[in-house]
Amino acid sequence: MTECYFNNIDYYIKKYLSKAQTSVCIVVAWINTSLFEAEFSQLVQKNVQITIMYNDDFINAKIIKKQAGIIYIPIRMPSSKNKMHDKFCIIDGRFVISGSYNWSKNANANFENVIINDDRLTVAKFQNEFYELTNVNSLYEDAKDNGKCINCGHKTFRLGVIQNIDEEKCLDRVDVFEVCSFDTGHNRFLKVEYYQGLTNFLNKDEKQPDYFDEEYIDGTATEENVALNNLVENRRNYELLSFFNHNNEWNVHFHALAYRICDNYSAYIEGYEPLMHFIYKVIWKNKFLANMIEDEYEEIGCW
Ligand SMILES: [Zn+2]
Repeated sequence: MTECYFNNIDYYIKKYLSKAQTSVCIVVAWINTSLFEAEFSQLVQKNVQITIMYNDDFINAKIIKKQAGIIYIPIRMPSSKNKMHDKFCIIDGRFVISGSYNWSKNANANFENVIINDDRLTVAKFQNEFYELTNVNSLYEDAKDNGKCINCGHKTFRLGVIQNIDEEKCLDRVDVFEVCSFDTGHNRFLKVEYYQGLTNFLNKDEKQPDYFDEEYIDGTATEENVALNNLVENRRNYELLSFFNHNNEWNVHFHALAYRICDNYSAYIEGYEPLMHFIYKVIWKNKFLANMIEDEYEEIGCW
């Protein structure tokens, strides 16, 4: 189901809000809470968990009146270049409302639009973004200390590459590289850290996509199911890796994480080829540096 509205947008937002049974996650640049006070009160009475994420600025300071029972998360962006300009709302993890519409008085007079969508993959992607935004302040702190390439002067970032080195002993290594955004030939190996049992928790990349989160099991490996499964797994993996990111012994923060995977694994298992073609699949990027980080690398540096 996809609906779109260009007029009376606040009416439709309220209509969908009133359908909520469990949770409402609102992420908007600006929100005048008095416009939705009655709906919010009813939801709080129904024990619906409401979270409102918004710009921590002087406009919202004037138009947000906090109500008991609602979680407020002000997002303070590092500079005016990085506005949190989202406008979306996830209801019960089942619908997403998204568009140009800020939840403010001014928006009612503007030409605006919203789309309401219940596509599972779309909703899951918005949920993922919601989680990502909850960490935005610490992501910025991590992003600040990226460097410059000593060869060409372009920006660099730190990439942690995870690989299992002994399946029986569950031993994994994470190699950290300083990656040049201009030429990966300039990359520098920084250090390696060993972990016990890390990949046990993580994506089993070499395997077929045969694992589905229970919520999504319907017996078929449709494109949508595979994409959903990947999204759920990557999120869970990120949560784990984020812990390592901030709790490793040498206190180095990664800006991206990748798996070193073999793309001829089936041929290797069947005895046709030696393990040889490695690729580096990026599973997570720091939002502030994302535009300089590729989705996949063929070469990272010497091992
Ligand atoms: Zn360089």
